[in-house]
Amino acid sequence: MFIHRNIANLVCSTDLNVMSVINYAVRHLHVKHIIVCGHYGCGGVKAAMTPKDMGLLNPWLRNIRDVYRLHEAELDGVDGDAKYDKLVEFNVLEQARNIIKTAAVQQSYAKYGYPIVHGWVFGFSDGLLKDLEIDFEGQLKAIQKIYNLTTDALEGS
Ligand SMILES: [Zn+2]
Repeated sequence: MFIHRNIANLVCSTDLNVMSVINYAVRHLHVKHIIVCGHYGCGGVKAAMTPKDMGLLNPWLRNIRDVYRLHEAELDGVDGDAKYDKLVEFNVLEQARNIIKTAAVQQSYAKYGYPIVHGWVFGFSDGLLKDLEIDFEGQLKAIQKIYNLTTDALEGS
């Protein structure tokens, strides 16, 4: 296993660290599966749910606040722990989408049929791992409508 960890399991396209890990794992190690594994009770997600100046953490938490904004109507309809758990799950799904948006994943999948991207959430309280059952093919297709990086950049120009 090749593992990368950060606060609230974020995959940001401008984060050279996580992007290097994904590129190395996909293009050189030829990994068959990529798993974004979040966890319930995540402190990073909790902090993002609190409208407060967190100093240097602001730009990092902003990514999670953006996930909240994407699902605002649904999240505003639930309270307390249910809302918190739901945002943890939405965040994992969004970060999985961010991985699918990369050229490395799209090009490798077009050529070899892997990697497949998965979204999991671990529960420290019950020890269970929840598979969010991402429809990888469906997500890839939806994402490639706008973010398709499998065609040559100069094609047709
Ligand atoms: Zn966490």
